[in-house]
Parts: sequence; structure tokens; C-alpha cells
Amino acid sequence: MIDSYSIKKDFPIFNAPGGRGRDLIYLDSAASAQKPLSVIEAMSAYYSGYYANTGRGLYWPATAASKALQAAREKVAGFIGADSPEIIFTGGTTSGINSLANSLLFSSLSEGDEIVVSVLEHHSNFLPWKQWCQDRGARLRVVPLTEDHTLDVEAFGELVGKKTKLVALSAVSNVTGAVQEIRKMVDVAHAKGVPVLIDAAQWVAHGPVDVREVDCDFMAFSGHKLYGPTGIGVLYIRSDHHKKLRPFHFGGGMVMEVSEESMTFKDSPGKFEGGTGNIAGAIGLAAAVEYLSEIGMEKVHPYLSSLTRYLKQGLQGMEGVDLVGDTDNQGPVVSFLTEGIHPHDMAGFLGEKGIAIRAGHHCAQPLMSSLNLIGTCRASLGIYNHEEDIDKLLDGIREAREFFI
Ligand code: PMP
Repeated sequence: MIDSYSIKKDFPIFNAPGGRGRDLIYLDSAASAQKPLSVIEAMSAYYSGYYANTGRGLYWPATAASKALQAAREKVAGFIGADSPEIIFTGGTTSGINSLANSLLFSSLSEGDEIVVSVLEHHSNFLPWKQWCQDRGARLRVVPLTEDHTLDVEAFGELVGKKTKLVALSAVSNVTGAVQEIRKMVDVAHAKGVPVLIDAAQWVAHGPVDVREVDCDFMAFSGHKLYGPTGIGVLYIRSDHHKKLRPFHFGGGMVMEVSEESMTFKDSPGKFEGGTGNIAGAIGLAAAVEYLSEIGMEKVHPYLSSLTRYLKQGLQGMEGVDLVGDTDNQGPVVSFLTEGIHPHDMAGFLGEKGIAIRAGHHCAQPLMSSLNLIGTCRASLGIYNHEEDIDKLLDGIREAREFFI
């Protein structure tokens, strides 16, 4: 079992002497996780100790920075069971998904084609596909939910067919925390020859993830939800797609040779990373991955699962509180409603007390419509949370009920 009290000491925001963070009850890690000191120090060490652009420089900071970037790629690859050329550094999940859409669909999406997403996608994994379908006269097919708020695998099987160009699904909902039967759906899609992108933004921070085990073609996630920096993320592209895929960022560092007549691209990752990337971000992300690996993702998962159960039991035991989309297999993301109190009023009341939750549609409006809701309150957990944080949330909700009702 992990010791969240000692873990919390690694996060400066909670410990700055005299800082407001000492009393902060942070239950918004699904929006973004706090950063351990080792991440901040790794980035600072790069900026202050060996800063230079990566690539071709033949002097020591450039060589050191290039080595650090390569080491970061290897570390992140190891974290998800990939090979290092399969790791493309992006700006985050949104940027990875948009890049893949541009690359994959530019020369292949035609009128009458289809893309399959689900009703619970974050807008980042819905809007790019919707826009491409709209532009090309293609059709977006949307997998519905079952009664228990997971994706309807049977309906999914019927939606994927000869016209499907891509399946793009979240492994874990950012609203309900529902963990999907993702491997089953990958198998169904592959049996029909359709590639699969997994939006793993809410998945990678909660337990071990192995791209070979899940057998996906592509996976996108953000560094900042993984205790790493903002502005960095990963697009995993399985190696057999490297040759076929069109680059999506054209610029410096990506070609073998270019002339007025022709151009030839480097192998991955160079081919997909034109221009100066977020080097400090990649170094910070690698430090986050190292931090988590030292704790052990196999320990993080049961810890967050038991804390999620504690949170759900606490909420279920309260009068006037209803869980939204609660399922048996749920990541540490819990949505709820409080009778007679608007989610924003609840979040504002708690925020005044230093209890950070989130309210609204969570960038998942199709899901909100299908649940007939305008929004929810959402509490989400990280490795620095413990039962005491949840007790404080429950007390805060009780006080809000006394105040508003
Ligand atoms: N997908 C999911 C499931 C998410 O939760 C989020 C962030 N809330 C995103 C995509 C977008 O991530 P980012 O804003 O870091 O690009």
C-alpha cells in the first residue's frame, strides 16, 4: 500500500511554508495533477544547467540536452510498454488527437466513410472527428451507453463496418470514471480491419497501462494529468504505421533531404516532430514517470481504487446526494449531484473553503445530453489524497446543504 501522507510531502504546493496550499484539499486531479518537486527540479536543471536546442549542436549543452530528450523518450516508452520511436512528443492529448486526425484522414477520408467514437468522449476526442466528417461528407457514428454507464460493446460491434476508417475511444471517462472494456473493443475493430485510437488521458495516471496488452494502433495522453508539466503529451504510434502515416508538423529536423523537386522524411519520431518541441516538458514528463515508477503503478491502482470506494460510499451515504454514472469498474473520478444546489454553487461554496472540485459539463456535452443533465460536480483523486481529504469534502457538502437548503 502506498503512503499518501509521505507522498504529499513531495509536492511543494502542499508544503510551502506559510503557503495557502497547506490547507488545500485538492480533488481535481482529473483536470490536472499537482507536480512533485523532482519534476520541477528536472526542468529547472535543464534550463539552468545544460540548456540548448536538441538535434545537431556539436557543443556540450546541445549534446547533453539531446541525450536527455532521448532518455526521456525511452523512459516514457518503457512506462507504457512501447518502443522509443513509437513515442511522439506532442502538446498534450488534444494536440495528439488533432495531429493524428490531420495525418490519417487528409488523404483517406471520403464521402460516405465513417468514424466511430462514443457518446462519453471528451470534446478533444469528438470535435476533431466531427469536423473532419462534416468537411468530407463522412459520417460520425456514436457508441451509446448501457444501463450501467459503460459503452455498449454489442452496439459498438454493429457500428464498426466496412466503411469505418477509425475507431477513437476513451479508456476511462473524465466525467463518470467508467473504465471501458477497451481490449474487447480493440479486438472487435481489428477483426474488421479497423485501426483504433485510445484516448488515455484519464487512464495512464491510475495504474499500469501497456500498449501491447491493449493492442491499440494509437494512444494519446497528456503529461499534466500524469503529475508532469503542461504543454507536453504523447501520441503513441505503433511502428507498423510509421511508414504509411503522413507527417503532421512540417518543419526543421524532420527531413533526410529536401529540394525543389522532392523531399524524404526521417524515420519516426523525427518524421512526426518537425520544429523545436517542448524539450523541458519532455524532461519533466520523464521525471514524473520516474517518480511514479518508483512508487509503482501496480501499487497506485489498488490505492486509488480503495480511495474511490471510500469516496463513493461517503457520497452514497449522504442525504440529497446522487452519484452520476457510477459503475463497478471505476477510476478515481466521481460525478455527483446535490439536490436543490446547482453544481457551480456547490463547487463555489467548497472552493471558498479550499476544497477543489470541478463543476460543469466537463467538456463532454454529448454525454451530458444523453444523461439529460446540464452538468455535475466532479471529485477526482490523485496519489497525494487520503481519506481525510474525502472526509473534509463530505463535511463541506453537508455545510453547503445547510447553507443553501
Ligand atoms: N480526453 C480526456 C478523457 C480528458 O479528460 C482530457 C482533459 N480533461 C482531454 C482529452 C484533453 O486533454 P488536454 O486538455 O490535456 O489536451
